[in-house]
Amino acid sequence: MASRGKRFLDSLNDGRSVWVDNDRVNDLPTHPAFSGTLNTISQLFDLLDDVKIRDQVGYSVDGSDKYAHSSFLVPYSAEDLAKRSHAFSYWAKETNGVMSRLSDYARSLVTGWYGSRKQLGKLDSKLESKITAYYEEARDNDLFLTTSLLDPQIDRSKGLDDQRIAERYLHVVKETKEGIVLSGAKMIATGAPYTNDFLIFSFNKLDTRHSKHAHALIVPAGSKGLHIVCRDSFAEADVQNYPLSARYDEMDAVLLFDEVLVPWERVLINGDADAVWKLRSHVPSNTLAFHQTVVRFVAKLEFVTGVTFAVADAIGVDGFLHVQEKLGELITQIDTMKALVIAAEVQAKLDPVSGMWLPEASYIDTARSIGTKLYPRAIEILQQIGGGGFVQTPARISQFDGPLSDLLNRYFEGVSINAENKVRLFKLAWDLIGSPLGSRHELYERFYAGDPVRSFANQYLSSDKSALVDPIWKLLRQSR
Ligand SMILES: Cc1cc2nc3c(=O)[nH]c(=O)nc-3n(C[C@H](O)[C@H](O)[C@H](O)COP(=O)(O)OP(=O)(O)OC[C@H]3O[C@@H](n4cnc5c(N)ncnc54)[C@H](O)[C@@H]3O)c2cc1C
Repeated sequence: MASRGKRFLDSLNDGRSVWVDNDRVNDLPTHPAFSGTLNTISQLFDLLDDVKIRDQVGYSVDGSDKYAHSSFLVPYSAEDLAKRSHAFSYWAKETNGVMSRLSDYARSLVTGWYGSRKQLGKLDSKLESKITAYYEEARDNDLFLTTSLLDPQIDRSKGLDDQRIAERYLHVVKETKEGIVLSGAKMIATGAPYTNDFLIFSFNKLDTRHSKHAHALIVPAGSKGLHIVCRDSFAEADVQNYPLSARYDEMDAVLLFDEVLVPWERVLINGDADAVWKLRSHVPSNTLAFHQTVVRFVAKLEFVTGVTFAVADAIGVDGFLHVQEKLGELITQIDTMKALVIAAEVQAKLDPVSGMWLPEASYIDTARSIGTKLYPRAIEILQQIGGGGFVQTPARISQFDGPLSDLLNRYFEGVSINAENKVRLFKLAWDLIGSPLGSRHELYERFYAGDPVRSFANQYLSSDKSALVDPIWKLLRQSR
């Protein structure tokens, strides 16, 4: 039997409509925009077939010899939660924290739904059986999943009462015996071109009047009428000059639905805005998914910090006090995020309703919110420490084998690092701070968890205010 990675790549050959520029992509694994990234993902999938590694990233399903990725493991104990965390960390470290949407996030949502299927089943009579069937299908077939929750940025000052908006946001056009037919657009879906299925629902709470826009769906990427419109590719073929862009460009895309039929078994909720909101804001499933995002983020901070330390060392600036202060700040970033992950896992509790063992959500929310500030700051520090060094590199590493090789070796060397290795290091750093991929990552960390302004505000709104304010009034009463 073909390896999991190969099976995943083969599964993408389903007639999907993926657009890069004006070209419809015929063969994703060989297309320059996707080949490096898909190679990385298929290698990650193959880890589950490696008997020496599979327990690090997966678990045996019901004690059988069938292994599934641990994002599908429903946590009923601290050990289960630790196993999930370890798997997230393993994949994240394999990709230097740079790949964020390896499907373990979206799979965790499905796992959370499955773990809570009895409670969620109250939202719709067929929901429990649909969730169960889909969870098993996704787990047993290693399905790659991603989410697409936002609506197109047409006019954010207007809502669905505006006809232009209502027609363009994803909505039901008709219902048939087979399922519902939808038109409209969704944005942004990272990993869209090579996902197996999309999880689609509204990120924002809808008014009950807007039933045509109220749905929760699992949409196969190969659905007829679904067009996946990619942004410009940041993938580079040249791994020496772009070590990250050559491996890790997770493509973002907008989804255009042109009368797409979604079969009933994939329609989790239809027409019920309250039920959609209950699923969307379901704390146990969100907590399992958000847990993955912060574990992954630790790996990314460690990677940026490692690059920054190496740059400081390479050019002999690590002895300066202000540089040490900044390098120390990066360590505080890592420790802050790690501490929040540890706190969330140590203070995990049994959810009395679902029976799942869930990380403490408040620490995860905090990690997600401050992560939006930490990452841009980490990148700023890297820029401050490398100075103009990032643009003082010859265009290609291969120039070290060219006519100027002797001179390049002489003038590009560092403290105790030869010229070629120093240039390689600075090119790696440039791929973090200056390449299109690097810029996209800064944007990603600012926004992937939703609008950071509203995320911080929500933390305030959902906080236990009296626990903080009551002692103030107590002190003032005692001070009369
Ligand atoms: C690289 C990248 C990858 C992503 N990948 C995914 C993915 O895989 N799946 C997915 O579902 N989503 C993904 N997202 C989308 C992400 O969830 C959104 O970008 C985020 O929720 C912000 O929404 P928006 O981009 O529509 O910005 P907007 O909501 O349009 O915000 C733009 C600005 O206007 C302000 N604003 C807008 N509306 C309001 C309001 N009502 N009240 C106050 N301020 C407002 C915001 O504060 C912000 O400053 C991705 C985003 C990025 C950048």
